[in-house]
Amino acid sequence: MDGFARSVRLFSVGMIGLIGNCDNGCVIGLTTEGVRDCTDFGNSIIDIGELERRQPELVYAFRRYGFLDEGCFYGKGSLRSAYLHVTDRCNMDCVGCYSRSDGRNKTPDLPFADLCAIIDKLASLGIQRLHLSGGEPALRCDLCAIAEHAKKAGITWVDLATNGLLAFSDFDLDRLSACIDDVFVSVDGLPDGANRRIRIESSKQSQLRAICILRSNGLNVTMLPTIHAKNIDDIPTYLNLADKLKVRISFSMLSCSACNRNLEDLGFTKKDLLRIAHFLDIESARGGKKPVLSARLSCGAGKTMVSVSADGGVYPCHMLQAPEFCIGNMLHDPLVKIVESHVRQEFLDLTVESVEECSSCTYAYLCGGGCRARAFAEEGLLKKDPYCRMLQEHYANVVRRIEETFGG
Ligand code: SF4
Ligand code: SF4
Repeated sequence: MDGFARSVRLFSVGMIGLIGNCDNGCVIGLTTEGVRDCTDFGNSIIDIGELERRQPELVYAFRRYGFLDEGCFYGKGSLRSAYLHVTDRCNMDCVGCYSRSDGRNKTPDLPFADLCAIIDKLASLGIQRLHLSGGEPALRCDLCAIAEHAKKAGITWVDLATNGLLAFSDFDLDRLSACIDDVFVSVDGLPDGANRRIRIESSKQSQLRAICILRSNGLNVTMLPTIHAKNIDDIPTYLNLADKLKVRISFSMLSCSACNRNLEDLGFTKKDLLRIAHFLDIESARGGKKPVLSARLSCGAGKTMVSVSADGGVYPCHMLQAPEFCIGNMLHDPLVKIVESHVRQEFLDLTVESVEECSSCTYAYLCGGGCRARAFAEEGLLKKDPYCRMLQEHYANVVRRIEETFGG
Protein backbone atom coordinates (compact mmCIF):
# COMPACT_ATOMS: atom_id res chain seq x y z
CA MET A 1 0.00 0.00 0.00
CA ASP A 2 1.24 3.51 -0.81
CA GLY A 3 2.26 5.78 2.01
CA PHE A 4 5.17 6.96 4.10
CA ALA A 5 6.92 4.73 6.62
CA ARG A 6 5.61 5.07 10.20
CA SER A 7 8.75 6.93 11.22
CA VAL A 8 8.19 9.78 8.73
CA ARG A 9 6.86 13.17 9.81
CA LEU A 10 6.03 16.22 7.71
CA PHE A 11 6.61 19.45 9.64
CA SER A 12 7.82 23.00 9.34
CA VAL A 13 10.25 25.13 11.29
CA GLY A 14 9.95 28.86 10.69
CA MET A 15 9.55 29.27 6.95
CA ILE A 16 11.13 25.91 6.12
CA GLY A 17 8.94 22.95 5.14
CA LEU A 18 10.63 19.69 6.14
CA ILE A 19 10.07 15.97 5.95
CA GLY A 20 12.06 13.73 8.28
CA ASN A 21 12.61 10.01 8.69
CA CYS A 22 12.87 9.74 12.49
CA ASP A 23 14.25 6.19 12.18
CA ASN A 24 17.52 7.25 10.56
CA GLY A 25 17.42 11.02 11.19
CA CYS A 26 17.36 12.01 7.51
CA VAL A 27 15.70 15.42 6.90
CA ILE A 28 14.77 16.82 3.48
CA GLY A 29 13.85 20.49 2.89
CA LEU A 30 10.70 20.97 0.81
CA THR A 31 9.47 23.64 -1.59
CA THR A 32 5.89 24.88 -1.21
CA GLU A 33 4.87 22.43 -3.97
CA GLY A 34 6.81 19.67 -2.23
CA VAL A 35 4.88 20.27 1.02
CA ARG A 36 1.58 20.17 -0.92
CA ASP A 37 2.45 16.99 -2.82
CA CYS A 38 3.80 15.18 0.25
CA THR A 39 0.66 16.13 2.18
CA ASP A 40 -1.49 14.76 -0.66
CA PHE A 41 0.55 11.55 -0.75
CA GLY A 42 0.43 11.16 3.05
CA ASN A 43 -3.37 11.60 2.93
CA SER A 44 -3.67 9.07 0.06
CA ILE A 45 -5.04 11.74 -2.30
CA ILE A 46 -2.33 10.84 -4.82
CA ASP A 47 -0.41 7.59 -5.26
CA ILE A 48 3.34 7.06 -5.56
CA GLY A 49 3.18 7.16 -9.36
CA GLU A 50 1.61 10.60 -9.34
CA LEU A 51 4.01 11.82 -6.64
CA GLU A 52 6.92 10.58 -8.76
CA ARG A 53 5.57 12.32 -11.85
CA ARG A 54 5.35 15.61 -9.93
CA GLN A 55 8.48 15.24 -7.77
CA PRO A 56 10.91 12.73 -9.37
CA GLU A 57 13.99 13.87 -7.39
CA LEU A 58 12.09 13.81 -4.12
CA VAL A 59 10.80 10.28 -4.69
CA TYR A 60 14.32 9.17 -5.62
CA ALA A 61 15.52 10.53 -2.23
CA PHE A 62 12.55 8.95 -0.42
CA ARG A 63 13.46 5.52 -1.86
CA ARG A 64 17.13 5.95 -1.11
CA TYR A 65 16.64 7.07 2.51
CA GLY A 66 13.87 4.69 3.58
CA PHE A 67 10.94 7.13 3.63
CA LEU A 68 8.66 4.64 1.87
CA ASP A 69 9.40 1.31 3.48
CA GLU A 70 8.98 0.26 7.08
CA GLY A 71 12.61 -0.65 7.73
CA CYS A 72 13.23 -1.65 11.35
CA PHE A 73 11.63 1.40 13.04
CA TYR A 74 12.62 0.54 16.58
CA GLY A 75 11.55 -3.08 16.22
CA LYS A 76 13.16 -6.14 17.71
CA GLY A 77 16.34 -5.77 15.69
CA SER A 78 16.86 -2.10 16.34
CA LEU A 79 19.20 -2.18 19.35
CA ARG A 80 22.52 -0.59 18.43
CA SER A 81 24.32 0.49 21.59
CA ALA A 82 24.64 -0.57 25.21
CA TYR A 83 26.20 0.59 28.43
CA LEU A 84 27.85 -2.18 30.42
CA HIS A 85 28.63 -1.36 34.04
CA VAL A 86 31.57 -3.67 34.66
CA THR A 87 31.72 -2.77 38.34
CA ASP A 88 29.76 -0.82 40.89
CA ARG A 89 32.92 -0.08 42.86
CA CYS A 90 34.41 3.39 42.69
CA ASN A 91 37.40 5.13 44.20
CA MET A 92 35.42 8.41 44.36
CA ASP A 93 32.09 9.62 45.68
CA CYS A 94 31.20 12.34 43.17
CA VAL A 95 27.98 14.15 43.94
CA GLY A 96 27.13 14.56 40.25
CA CYS A 97 27.62 10.91 39.28
CA TYR A 98 24.71 9.48 37.24
CA SER A 99 25.24 6.03 38.75
CA ARG A 100 25.62 7.16 42.36
CA SER A 101 23.54 5.00 44.69
CA ASP A 102 23.37 3.83 48.28
CA GLY A 103 24.62 0.45 47.05
CA ARG A 104 27.91 1.88 45.79
CA ASN A 105 30.90 -0.31 46.67
CA LYS A 106 28.55 -2.95 48.11
CA THR A 107 27.62 -5.01 45.00
CA PRO A 108 30.30 -7.60 44.25
CA ASP A 109 31.73 -7.53 40.71
CA LEU A 110 30.40 -10.11 38.28
CA PRO A 111 33.03 -12.72 37.40
CA PHE A 112 34.80 -12.30 34.04
CA ALA A 113 32.95 -15.30 32.55
CA ASP A 114 29.56 -13.73 33.37
CA LEU A 115 30.57 -10.43 31.76
CA CYS A 116 31.69 -12.34 28.65
CA ALA A 117 28.33 -14.13 28.53
CA ILE A 118 26.53 -10.76 28.76
CA ILE A 119 28.72 -9.30 26.01
CA ASP A 120 27.96 -12.30 23.76
CA LYS A 121 24.24 -11.79 24.31
CA LEU A 122 24.50 -8.06 23.59
CA ALA A 123 26.39 -8.83 20.38
CA SER A 124 23.71 -11.34 19.35
CA LEU A 125 21.10 -8.59 19.83
CA GLY A 126 22.96 -6.50 17.24
CA ILE A 127 24.77 -4.13 19.61
CA GLN A 128 27.56 -2.40 17.67
CA ARG A 129 28.64 0.21 20.22
CA LEU A 130 29.53 -0.79 23.76
CA HIS A 131 30.22 1.78 26.48
CA LEU A 132 32.16 0.33 29.41
CA SER A 133 31.18 2.24 32.52
CA GLY A 134 30.82 1.79 36.27
CA GLY A 135 31.64 2.65 39.07
CA GLU A 136 35.21 3.09 37.93
CA PRO A 137 35.92 0.45 35.25
CA ALA A 138 39.69 0.81 35.69
CA LEU A 139 39.32 -0.79 39.14
CA ARG A 140 38.91 -4.11 37.30
CA CYS A 141 42.27 -5.62 36.54
CA ASP A 142 40.66 -7.66 33.71
CA LEU A 143 39.44 -4.51 31.93
CA CYS A 144 41.59 -5.17 28.83
CA ALA A 145 40.35 -8.75 28.61
CA ILE A 146 36.72 -7.55 28.84
CA ALA A 147 37.25 -5.05 25.99
CA GLU A 148 39.11 -7.67 23.95
CA HIS A 149 36.23 -10.09 24.40
CA ALA A 150 33.79 -7.45 23.13
CA LYS A 151 35.88 -6.96 19.99
CA LYS A 152 36.14 -10.71 19.45
CA ALA A 153 32.34 -10.93 19.80
CA GLY A 154 32.08 -8.61 16.79
CA ILE A 155 31.21 -5.33 18.52
CA THR A 156 32.78 -2.69 16.31
CA TRP A 157 33.08 0.21 18.78
CA VAL A 158 34.11 -0.15 22.43
CA ASP A 159 34.71 2.89 24.59
CA LEU A 160 35.44 3.45 28.23
CA ALA A 161 34.34 6.04 30.79
CA THR A 162 36.79 6.78 33.59
CA ASN A 163 37.34 9.38 36.28
CA GLY A 164 41.01 9.30 35.29
CA LEU A 165 42.23 9.01 38.84
CA LEU A 166 43.83 5.60 38.70
CA ALA A 167 47.39 5.29 37.48
CA PHE A 168 46.86 4.40 33.83
CA SER A 169 50.62 4.01 33.57
CA ASP A 170 50.10 0.68 35.43
CA PHE A 171 47.96 -0.64 32.54
CA ASP A 172 49.25 -2.39 29.43
CA LEU A 173 48.38 0.62 27.29
CA ASP A 174 49.38 -1.04 24.00
CA ARG A 175 46.88 -3.77 24.74
CA LEU A 176 44.24 -1.23 25.83
CA SER A 177 44.71 0.90 22.71
CA ALA A 178 44.17 -2.19 20.52
CA CYS A 179 40.67 -2.81 21.88
CA ILE A 180 39.37 0.56 23.15
CA ASP A 181 38.23 3.05 20.52
CA ASP A 182 37.85 6.04 22.82
CA VAL A 183 38.41 6.87 26.49
CA PHE A 184 36.08 9.45 28.06
CA VAL A 185 37.93 11.08 30.94
CA SER A 186 35.79 13.10 33.35
CA VAL A 187 37.28 16.51 34.07
CA ASP A 188 35.61 19.15 36.18
CA GLY A 189 38.42 21.39 37.22
CA LEU A 190 40.70 23.64 35.24
CA PRO A 191 44.45 23.93 35.83
CA ASP A 192 44.04 27.56 36.92
CA GLY A 193 41.83 26.50 39.81
CA ALA A 194 38.44 27.56 38.44
CA ASN A 195 35.35 26.78 40.46
CA ARG A 196 34.76 23.12 41.14
CA ARG A 197 32.49 21.18 43.42
CA ILE A 198 32.06 17.74 41.94
CA ARG A 199 35.21 15.92 42.96
CA ILE A 200 37.92 16.35 45.51
CA GLU A 201 40.34 19.21 44.89
CA SER A 202 43.39 17.08 44.23
CA SER A 203 41.77 15.23 41.31
CA LYS A 204 42.22 17.72 38.48
CA GLN A 205 45.96 17.29 37.97
CA SER A 206 45.58 13.50 38.03
CA GLN A 207 42.84 13.68 35.41
CA LEU A 208 44.93 15.87 33.10
CA ARG A 209 47.92 13.60 33.66
CA ALA A 210 45.79 10.55 32.73
CA ILE A 211 44.72 12.30 29.51
CA CYS A 212 48.36 12.98 28.59
CA ILE A 213 49.45 9.40 29.37
CA LEU A 214 46.60 7.90 27.35
CA ARG A 215 47.21 10.26 24.40
CA SER A 216 50.93 9.67 24.32
CA ASN A 217 50.25 5.92 24.13
CA GLY A 218 48.07 6.29 21.08
CA LEU A 219 44.62 6.10 22.68
CA ASN A 220 41.82 8.36 21.48
CA VAL A 221 40.66 10.52 24.35
CA THR A 222 37.55 12.62 24.85
CA MET A 223 37.65 15.10 27.71
CA LEU A 224 34.31 15.14 29.54
CA PRO A 225 33.80 18.16 31.81
CA THR A 226 30.63 18.29 33.90
CA ILE A 227 28.88 21.62 33.48
CA HIS A 228 26.96 23.09 36.39
CA ALA A 229 25.70 26.54 37.32
CA LYS A 230 29.05 27.67 38.72
CA ASN A 231 31.32 26.80 35.80
CA ILE A 232 29.34 27.76 32.68
CA ASP A 233 31.79 30.56 31.88
CA ASP A 234 34.62 28.01 31.87
CA ILE A 235 33.26 26.38 28.70
CA PRO A 236 35.52 28.39 26.32
CA THR A 237 38.54 27.59 28.51
CA TYR A 238 37.69 23.87 28.38
CA LEU A 239 37.45 24.10 24.59
CA ASN A 240 40.89 25.71 24.40
CA LEU A 241 42.34 23.14 26.79
CA ALA A 242 41.01 20.29 24.62
CA ASP A 243 42.63 21.91 21.56
CA LYS A 244 45.90 22.26 23.44
CA LEU A 245 45.87 18.63 24.58
CA LYS A 246 44.74 17.52 21.09
CA VAL A 247 41.74 15.60 22.43
CA ARG A 248 38.06 15.70 21.60
CA ILE A 249 35.67 17.26 24.07
CA SER A 250 32.12 16.53 25.02
CA PHE A 251 30.19 18.17 27.86
CA SER A 252 28.15 16.40 30.48
CA MET A 253 25.40 18.44 32.14
CA LEU A 254 24.99 18.00 35.88
CA SER A 255 22.07 15.61 36.19
CA CYS A 256 18.79 16.81 37.66
CA SER A 257 18.82 14.03 40.24
CA ALA A 258 22.18 15.41 41.40
CA CYS A 259 20.73 18.94 41.47
CA ASN A 260 17.94 17.65 43.69
CA ARG A 261 20.50 16.15 46.06
CA ASN A 262 21.82 18.99 48.27
CA LEU A 263 23.19 20.76 45.22
CA GLU A 264 20.53 23.37 44.58
CA ASP A 265 23.16 26.07 44.05
CA LEU A 266 24.63 24.06 41.15
CA GLY A 267 21.27 23.60 39.38
CA PHE A 268 20.56 25.67 36.28
CA THR A 269 18.29 28.69 36.00
CA LYS A 270 16.61 29.46 32.64
CA LYS A 271 19.25 32.15 32.10
CA ASP A 272 22.02 29.58 32.70
CA LEU A 273 20.47 27.24 30.13
CA LEU A 274 20.44 30.04 27.54
CA ARG A 275 24.11 30.79 28.24
CA ILE A 276 25.02 27.11 27.81
CA ALA A 277 23.15 26.97 24.48
CA HIS A 278 25.06 30.07 23.38
CA PHE A 279 28.46 28.54 24.21
CA LEU A 280 27.64 25.17 22.69
CA ASP A 281 26.42 26.81 19.48
CA ILE A 282 29.69 28.73 19.22
CA GLU A 283 31.46 25.38 19.56
CA SER A 284 29.28 23.66 16.94
CA ALA A 285 30.09 26.44 14.44
CA ARG A 286 33.86 26.31 15.09
CA GLY A 287 36.05 25.74 12.07
CA GLY A 288 33.26 26.69 9.64
CA LYS A 289 31.27 23.52 10.46
CA LYS A 290 27.94 23.51 8.60
CA PRO A 291 24.74 23.26 10.65
CA VAL A 292 23.01 19.88 10.50
CA LEU A 293 19.41 18.92 11.23
CA SER A 294 18.37 15.44 12.22
CA ALA A 295 14.82 14.15 12.69
CA ARG A 296 13.81 12.15 15.73
CA LEU A 297 10.72 11.11 17.58
CA SER A 298 12.55 10.42 20.83
CA CYS A 299 15.94 9.62 22.29
CA GLY A 300 17.23 6.07 22.03
CA ALA A 301 16.31 4.93 25.56
CA GLY A 302 14.99 1.37 25.30
CA LYS A 303 14.66 1.67 21.53
CA THR A 304 18.18 1.70 20.16
CA MET A 305 20.05 1.41 23.46
CA VAL A 306 19.97 -0.45 26.75
CA SER A 307 22.07 -0.27 29.87
CA VAL A 308 23.29 -3.29 31.83
CA SER A 309 23.95 -2.70 35.52
CA ALA A 310 26.78 -4.24 37.54
CA ASP A 311 24.50 -7.17 38.56
CA GLY A 312 23.30 -7.92 35.01
CA GLY A 313 20.02 -5.95 35.25
CA VAL A 314 18.84 -4.42 31.96
CA TYR A 315 17.39 -0.90 31.77
CA PRO A 316 16.37 1.42 28.91
CA CYS A 317 19.21 3.84 29.62
CA HIS A 318 22.12 4.36 32.01
CA MET A 319 20.23 7.31 33.52
CA LEU A 320 17.07 5.27 34.08
CA GLN A 321 18.42 2.45 36.22
CA ALA A 322 15.49 2.52 38.66
CA PRO A 323 13.65 -0.68 39.72
CA GLU A 324 10.46 0.34 37.88
CA PHE A 325 12.38 0.44 34.59
CA CYS A 326 14.08 -2.95 34.91
CA ILE A 327 13.58 -4.85 31.66
CA GLY A 328 15.07 -8.11 32.91
CA ASN A 329 18.41 -9.63 33.81
CA MET A 330 21.00 -10.57 31.20
CA LEU A 331 22.23 -13.52 33.25
CA HIS A 332 18.89 -15.06 34.19
CA ASP A 333 16.30 -14.13 31.55
CA PRO A 334 16.02 -15.39 27.99
CA LEU A 335 16.83 -12.67 25.45
CA VAL A 336 13.39 -12.82 23.89
CA LYS A 337 11.84 -12.01 27.28
CA ILE A 338 14.08 -8.94 27.56
CA VAL A 339 13.50 -7.72 24.02
CA GLU A 340 9.74 -8.17 24.24
CA SER A 341 9.24 -7.09 27.86
CA HIS A 342 6.36 -4.73 28.62
CA VAL A 343 8.78 -2.08 29.97
CA ARG A 344 10.67 -2.08 26.68
CA GLN A 345 7.36 -1.91 24.83
CA GLU A 346 6.46 1.21 26.86
CA PHE A 347 9.71 2.83 25.76
CA LEU A 348 9.17 1.75 22.14
CA ASP A 349 5.83 3.56 22.24
CA LEU A 350 7.20 6.63 24.05
CA THR A 351 7.76 9.53 21.64
CA VAL A 352 7.67 13.31 21.74
CA GLU A 353 4.00 12.94 20.78
CA SER A 354 3.38 11.28 24.17
CA VAL A 355 4.64 14.39 26.02
CA GLU A 356 1.75 16.84 26.14
CA GLU A 357 3.90 19.93 26.75
CA CYS A 358 6.05 19.10 23.69
CA SER A 359 3.25 18.32 21.28
CA SER A 360 2.86 21.89 20.02
CA CYS A 361 6.59 22.68 19.99
CA THR A 362 8.02 23.87 16.66
CA TYR A 363 11.12 21.78 17.24
CA ALA A 364 9.31 18.60 18.36
CA TYR A 365 10.60 16.40 15.49
CA LEU A 366 14.14 17.74 15.77
CA CYS A 367 14.39 17.54 19.57
CA GLY A 368 12.35 14.38 20.12
CA GLY A 369 11.36 15.67 23.57
CA GLY A 370 14.93 15.89 24.93
CA CYS A 371 15.99 13.57 27.73
CA ARG A 372 13.36 11.33 29.39
CA ALA A 373 15.73 10.61 32.28
CA ARG A 374 16.00 14.32 33.13
CA ALA A 375 12.22 14.63 32.88
CA PHE A 376 11.79 11.60 35.16
CA ALA A 377 14.25 12.97 37.74
CA GLU A 378 12.44 16.29 37.87
CA GLU A 379 8.70 15.77 37.38
CA GLY A 380 7.90 12.55 35.57
CA LEU A 381 8.65 10.43 32.53
CA LEU A 382 5.93 12.12 30.46
CA LYS A 383 6.83 15.67 31.44
CA LYS A 384 8.93 18.17 29.53
CA ASP A 385 12.73 17.94 29.71
CA PRO A 386 13.69 20.47 32.44
CA TYR A 387 16.52 21.65 30.15
CA CYS A 388 13.98 22.49 27.42
CA ARG A 389 14.98 26.18 27.36
CA MET A 390 18.49 25.21 26.28
CA LEU A 391 17.17 22.80 23.65
CA GLN A 392 14.74 25.36 22.19
CA GLU A 393 17.49 27.97 21.97
CA HIS A 394 19.85 25.45 20.38
CA TYR A 395 17.37 24.39 17.68
CA ALA A 396 16.40 28.02 17.00
CA ASN A 397 20.10 28.79 16.45
CA VAL A 398 20.62 25.77 14.17
CA VAL A 399 17.60 26.71 12.04
CA ARG A 400 18.76 30.34 11.86
CA ARG A 401 22.20 29.18 10.70
CA ILE A 402 20.63 26.90 8.10
CA GLU A 403 18.54 29.80 6.78
CA GLU A 404 21.70 31.95 6.61
CA THR A 405 23.83 29.19 5.03
CA PHE A 406 21.35 27.90 2.49
CA GLY A 407 19.36 31.07 1.91
CA GLY A 408 16.17 30.11 3.84
S1 SF4 B 1 11.79 19.45 25.28
FE1 SF4 B 1 11.36 21.57 24.73
S2 SF4 B 1 12.43 21.90 22.78
FE2 SF4 B 1 12.25 19.68 23.08
S3 SF4 B 1 10.33 19.10 22.02
FE3 SF4 B 1 9.81 19.48 24.16
S4 SF4 B 1 9.13 21.62 24.22
FE4 SF4 B 1 10.31 21.32 22.30
S1 SF4 C 1 16.89 9.26 28.60
FE1 SF4 C 1 18.43 10.91 28.41
S2 SF4 C 1 20.40 9.96 28.89
FE2 SF4 C 1 18.91 8.31 28.42
S3 SF4 C 1 19.14 7.88 26.22
FE3 SF4 C 1 17.50 9.39 26.46
S4 SF4 C 1 18.56 11.38 26.22
FE4 SF4 C 1 20.13 9.86 26.67
